[in-house]
Amino acid sequence: MDLSKSLADLRRRIAAARCGEDVTLIGVSKKQPVEKLQAAYAAGLRVFGENYAQEALAKMVLWRPLDTEWHFIGPLQSNKCKEVAQHFDWLQSVDRMSLVAKLAGHRLAHQAPLNLLVQVNIDAEASKSGCSPEAAFEIARQIAAQPQLRLRGLMAIPAPWPERELRVASFCKLKRLFDELRARFDVDTLSMGMSDDFELAIEHGATMVRVGSALFGSR
Ligand SMILES: *Cc1c(COP(=O)(O)O)cnc(C)c1O
Repeated sequence: MDLSKSLADLRRRIAAARCGEDVTLIGVSKKQPVEKLQAAYAAGLRVFGENYAQEALAKMVLWRPLDTEWHFIGPLQSNKCKEVAQHFDWLQSVDRMSLVAKLAGHRLAHQAPLNLLVQVNIDAEASKSGCSPEAAFEIARQIAAQPQLRLRGLMAIPAPWPERELRVASFCKLKRLFDELRARFDVDTLSMGMSDDFELAIEHGATMVRVGSALFGSR
């Protein structure tokens, strides 16, 4: 796949779906070789999303330009808190209270605060990580109390419903939850939408989309 062409296509589609707020595109580069990240960078991409701490750190050792931003988007095991807190700019998958103090403790004093999104399991799927919508507020409160951390908003991976109306319903639930959070905290980011549904997500309030296969090809 020609990465500059797929990136330009994506940017065009994102701009067309946008209704107001800016939308940040995350290139999800899990299981992709560093050469592909470099090609995307050459085409203008600066924000990368990775799911596995070991894999991501191995890539960063080889290649990490100063103007890139790295988001950890996979399920976080507590024994990976240190690596993630020290090597990433954002972490999108905080879904339990016990991670918050650990992350704050590992972020180094000279680093900018770690940007955090609370991951919500919006369709209550047994197979998926993420907290309940009710728990999101308490986790948010704990994050907001830590100077080493910066609460930015919510992330979710809705169920892959085949029906468009059900996907819309999930995105709308998330947008409502985000608006409630925004009424109580200083947050600006709603991360929802992937290769198959990012336009629908943007039409329903996403400010950040995480796109893997539609940019980099299959994994
Ligand atoms: C893999 C992944 C993506 C990207 O998925 P695509 O369907 O390839 O766009 C987005 N978000 C998360 C959390 C992922 O794990």
